Amino acid sequence: MNKNSERPVVLVIAGNDPSGGAGIAADIQAISALGAHPAPVVTCLTVQDTCNAYEVECCDAAFVYRQASRILEDLPVAAVKIGLLGNAEIANTVAQLLKASDTVPIVLDPVLVAAGGARLATLDLKHAIINMFCPLATVITPNASEIRELAGPVDGDGDLQQARAKKLFDFGCEYVLAKGADEPDPDPGQQSLDKVTNTLYRRDGSVHVNTWPRLPHSYHGSGCTLASALAALLAQGVDMVEADSQAQDYTYAALSRGFKPGAGQHIPLRHWR
Ligand code: PLP
Repeated sequence: MNKNSERPVVLVIAGNDPSGGAGIAADIQAISALGAHPAPVVTCLTVQDTCNAYEVECCDAAFVYRQASRILEDLPVAAVKIGLLGNAEIANTVAQLLKASDTVPIVLDPVLVAAGGARLATLDLKHAIINMFCPLATVITPNASEIRELAGPVDGDGDLQQARAKKLFDFGCEYVLAKGADEPDPDPGQQSLDKVTNTLYRRDGSVHVNTWPRLPHSYHGSGCTLASALAALLAQGVDMVEADSQAQDYTYAALSRGFKPGAGQHIPLRHWR
């Protein structure tokens, strides 16, 4: 793998959402819009609309492995974006493959629950994310409910989100980008009803806070958009703090141009140019 391609390649390992709001379609749009080339490896198919997800059908783990390893052998992959993995067997197989590959930035969106509330990860998969993927990830991008679930109980005093990020560092990643849109005011001082605060924590203790005006709708695929944008920028050699800031600007712009094609959530417009 290397970073020298004219249009850097992002290997995307994620599931399909047929509404086109989240999942691999979202990843392809965001990565393309930000100047990189997405190489999409599908882990699972879902039955889903803009309201919720209803079924997940996983690919055979060995088949996922063969898709990804062919790409890693052929293309100069410059970053990896991990979305919905489907099940623990796929997660373990993909983790083994990435462990054996050259080092490039890995953006892990730890998808546990669909925006409509449906559970997308079993307990086994959650443990595989913690044990196999957190050690491999450069940055993990949980929302408020995901960071709480992944970190487990933390000490009640002080900044709970920072304490949870520290627990994820213990599992192994270098950065945690904690997103706040899903839970207005989860911990006093972190969020508010009119703003969204997303915070980038680094293992060395540095913290970068990014605040947006809270948009009036809820969105299908906002997390996929942000994580993919980040991967596309990291693939182009942009450093993490700048990539985070540019990815958030792009995501806010995509969300504020969002549209409502069905009965449920809005979908970000990721390619308006
Ligand atoms: N990937 C797939 C295939 C999904 O179905 C979903 C949510 O439904 C996600 C990822 C995560 O979506 P979001 O970006 O809204 O967190």
